[in-house]
Formats: sequence, C-alpha cells, structure tokens
Amino acid sequence: MLFEVLARAFDNAERTTSRTQLTSILVDLFKKSDPEIVDKVVYLIQGKLWPDWAGLPELGVGVKILIKAMSKLFNVKEESVEALYGKLGDSGKVAEHLKSSRTQTAGGLARFIQKTEASKLTVAEVYDTLAKVALATGEGSRDVKVNLIVTLLGKAAPLEARYIARLFEGRLRLGIGDATIMDALSVAYTGSALNRQIVEYAYNVRADLGNVAKVLATRGLEGLREIAPTPGIPIRPMLAERLSDPQEILSKTGGQALVEYKYDGERAQIHKVGDRVAVFSRRLENITHQYPDVVEMARTGIRVKEAIVEGEIVCVDPDTGSMRPFQELMHRKRKHDIHEAVRDYPVAVYLFDALYVDGVNFINEPIRKRRDVLSKIVSESEKFRLSESVLISNASDLEKFFLKAVEDGAEGVMVKAVHSQSVYQAGARGWLWIKYKRDYKSEMIDTVDLVVVGAFRGRGRRGGKIGALLVAAYDEESDTFQTVCKVGSGFSDEDLAKLDELLSPYLIDRKHPRVVSDVEPDIWVVPALVMEVLGAELTLSPQHTCCRGAIRKGVGISIRFPRFIRWRDDKGPEDATKTSELVEMYFNQLKKISEEQVEKLET
Ligand code: ATP
Repeated sequence: MLFEVLARAFDNAERTTSRTQLTSILVDLFKKSDPEIVDKVVYLIQGKLWPDWAGLPELGVGVKILIKAMSKLFNVKEESVEALYGKLGDSGKVAEHLKSSRTQTAGGLARFIQKTEASKLTVAEVYDTLAKVALATGEGSRDVKVNLIVTLLGKAAPLEARYIARLFEGRLRLGIGDATIMDALSVAYTGSALNRQIVEYAYNVRADLGNVAKVLATRGLEGLREIAPTPGIPIRPMLAERLSDPQEILSKTGGQALVEYKYDGERAQIHKVGDRVAVFSRRLENITHQYPDVVEMARTGIRVKEAIVEGEIVCVDPDTGSMRPFQELMHRKRKHDIHEAVRDYPVAVYLFDALYVDGVNFINEPIRKRRDVLSKIVSESEKFRLSESVLISNASDLEKFFLKAVEDGAEGVMVKAVHSQSVYQAGARGWLWIKYKRDYKSEMIDTVDLVVVGAFRGRGRRGGKIGALLVAAYDEESDTFQTVCKVGSGFSDEDLAKLDELLSPYLIDRKHPRVVSDVEPDIWVVPALVMEVLGAELTLSPQHTCCRGAIRKGVGISIRFPRFIRWRDDKGPEDATKTSELVEMYFNQLKKISEEQVEKLET
C-alpha cells in the first residue's frame, strides 16, 4: 500500500470537523488498506507506532534533529530552516514547503535522492523507518536518526513530507479518536455500523486497536468473537458509577452486594506468565518499572503459571503496615533510583479481581466466582492480599463498613453486585460496581493532645519493638479515656528507639479501668503519657469510643492519617484534649466544609 494514500486521507481528515465525514474518510482508507498492514495504518492514524502499554520508545525526535536533517537534505543552513520553523510553527509545513520549493532549485541531496529513487514510498517502508528512528539509542544514534530521516524525507512527495515530519516529531495530532476508528473499521470490514459493538468488545478485552483491526480484516467478525484475554496485553478496566446514599446503592445492586474497601492508591492490572510479570495502570500504561517489589510479590504470590489479576497498589507505613495517603505513590514515578523509592515508600497490593487463569477466561463469570478463583490462586501475605470485603444486605451495615474503611485510610467502599450477571464489564462504566466515597475533603488545622492507652508491636524494620500507639481523649463527664486512633507515623528513628523504654513503667496486662476501648492493642498502658497529634481530618468511626453516639448512633470520632508531632511532658492525662472539644472540632469542620461548598457554588 502506498504511503500517498495515507497522506491524502490525513489531509482530507485535517480539512473536516464532521465526525461522519471523518468516518467515511477512514472507511475509504481501510478499504484500500492491505489487511496484512492495517494494524500499522491504525497505529499511524493514532500517531504512534505501537500501543502505549508496549513499553517501547515512542515517536518524538525533537525539533533540533529534524531541522538538522532538513538542512542536510535541502542544502540549506540550519538557521534558515529554524527561521522557517519559527514562521510556520510546524515541522510538517516546513518539510512540505522545502520539498515543494527547494527540490527544483536547490542542488543538494534532495534532487539526488529524488532522481535516483523513482519508486514511491509504501506505508510499510515509512513505518519501518519511523520504528528504526524511535528504537535507535546509544552512542552515534543521533547521526543514525538524522540519516534515516534524510533518506525518508528525500523520497517523499511534498504532502507525504508534511505527515512524515509530523510523525517523526510525534505531533501528528489528527484528533481522530478510537471511537471513530472503531466505527470506520466496523463499516469497512463488516458493511455495517451495527457491528461496532463487537469491535468495541474485542478492543476492551484486548487493548490493542491495531491488532483488533488486523484480526477483523483477516478473519472477520468470527475472529473478533474469539478474542479472549491474553497475558501481556492489558484489558480495559471496568469502572464504577457513583452514589452517596447506602439505601439507594443497595437497591441498585438488587438488595445484596459484595462491599470492599476502596483503597486510595493506584490501580494495577497484573499479568503473569511464568516468571515474567507486567503491571499496567488504570490508563493502561506499563508501570512495571515503578514497582519491582510488586513484580516480586506477584511472582511468588500468584501460584499459577499464567494469570491476569487486578488490585490497588497502596503506600504503607513500613513500621505499622497502615495505609498512607495516595500522594506518596508519586515517589514511585521517578525514572532513576527506583530502588531508593522502593525502600522509602513501601507498598502493599490489595487484590480485587481475577480475569484470566491458565488459559481460562473469567471475565464473563459472576464476581463471587472470580473472587473465589482469586483466593485460590493467591497465596496471601501481609503485603499481597485480597481486598477487605463483606457480603452486605442492609444499609446500616453498609454505612458502618464505609466508616471503618475511611478510618482505616481507604477512600470509601466499592459496592459490587453479586447476581448471576455480575460479569467483568471490560472498558465500561456501569451499575454493577458503585463507588461510595467521602464526598468532602477537609483539613485538620489544629493539633490535639491525646493520651497513650495501648501499644502495638511493629512489623518489618520494627519487628517486635513498639511501633504504634493507641491514644485516647479525656472524657470529663465519665472521667474516662476514650480511644481516638492508632498512631504509627511521624516518629523519628530516635523517637522510635526510645518508645519501649519510655513506656516500660506504664505497661499493664489488662485494660486500665478508666480506659474505654473496643480496640485490643498488643499491650495495655496506664494512661499517663500525652502526645501532640495532627491528622488529615476528623472522621466518624465505628471502632473508636471517643464521643460515641454524640454525632451519630453507634459511632465515635477518630482521626484520619494521624501523625505524632511531639511529646507533651508538660501535660498530665487529664490535661489532654477533651472529648467535648473533639465534638466541637468535628462540627466546625462540617461548617467549614459546607461554607466552602457554598463558596464554590457561588463562584
Ligand atoms: P473512575 O475510575 O471511576 O473513572 P477515578 O479514576 O477517579 O474514576 P475512582 O473514582 O477513585 O477512580 O474509582 C475507581 C477506582 O477505585 C478504580 O479504578 C480502582 O483503582 C480503585 N479501587 C480501589 N479499591 C477498589 C476495589 N476494591 N475494587 C475496585 N476498584 C477499586
């Protein structure tokens, strides 16, 4: 297939804004395409060489290299090409302009190449050269790239040069979305737009539109219907609708649901084939290099040869294992020193779905079956385990589980329908999954002073030693200490080293009579030591006893993401923050949130 056919289609596409017209331009193009290279045609329409998740270098050589190549080809000074670029603002237009005006006048390489290469460019040749340029690395690769560009542009007609230059630069930007490509594929190869659904289903299960196009062009709809999950090729993720009323949520799922913590991290689709593991993000980027620890966990934690599973990667505190805010995952985005980030920002993976196992496709199975499969193939460890989940059939249980999730650092809950049709809807947002999130975000401005009433032994680095503390507020009316939260963050190494010694005079073997707690720490402590704590916000908690019932029946007040600030040696336990103050702070927080919401609505 000649490249000029593609260039003309690109030119026509650029001239229209009508989606119908755009579709018919593509239909025409696909009809002219050789089925064996239609995958390459699709990638080039998308302005790429391969799917983003392939993890291969992308197009985008940088203007400097293009200018150098054009200067060499047309025997024009680099400054002149640069000036032209400044004027036209687009490498494609520069190449086209030079091609049409200079080839007749200039001596140079251009005329030579054009004369000696009478044959026309094919799509395969352009694609292969683009790929060679993208893949060239290391010493001398700059010259290799320049020479390849010179040769290809030398053979191109002016219109072809426009698109070749833009492709090299990685700025094709035709603005043709996947949806339009799918419409056109359906019409071109099946004669009807109605089969678009089948094309889309195949694309959702195999996120490689080039490959889907090739299967359709070579094997027709039958071929598409046979497309099943393939380890190594990501599946487009199933998405959730959002609601904020527990009753309504349960009625949408048919009265019963599997309710899971909605972890606040990064979605991970984990593919395993033997010892090879790949991790794909929510947007299907290949993020394997950011998580060498997750790769290792999957290698040892997934007990079958081949699998595709999904879960959420969450930053955790190395000493206590508690979840950390999602922003901390940003440290994993770096290209270099990933091992340092792995050490300083450890993660855990909470798995929630199994889509494929050893040749068997599970996406059309109901969720409980998938979860059952997941539990069978995963050998759970502290950092690689199934998401927290319960089967719930009434709104008050749902609300309680939601509050517990938020307090534990989750963002809310995912409520999943469990009926026989509860399949994995790849690439679709539907009512089978409903997210129930906190609908506000606030900040805790003031610190509070809380009394230590219990302690937990650390894990990891802190194995055996005290790593987190159970802390309480003072309730004047009952003269008791009511638990607020567990604090395991904010301690310096020095603070941690001193904890055992600091607490040793206060350890007791049962709960102190003045402590009101539903949480069982590893060790009970006499209320004596006061610490200053700051958190992200105050939350409602079914686990903690502080002001239980004051805001809502059966729930107390807690602090989300609490951190130790310092010891308050100057305070005795009764000088700690009072439960009544926490209620007041909670109401102030609500007031602030509603004021902010009103402000937002007004602006
Ligand atoms: P959306 O993905 O719905 O477009 P978004 O990207 O903002 O929106 P959220 O609204 O936070 O994401 O909700 C969906 C995400 O929740 C999932 O993509 C997944 O990463 C995450 N998640 C956390 N825990 C779970 C769970 N137990 N089951 C499914 N998804 C979960």
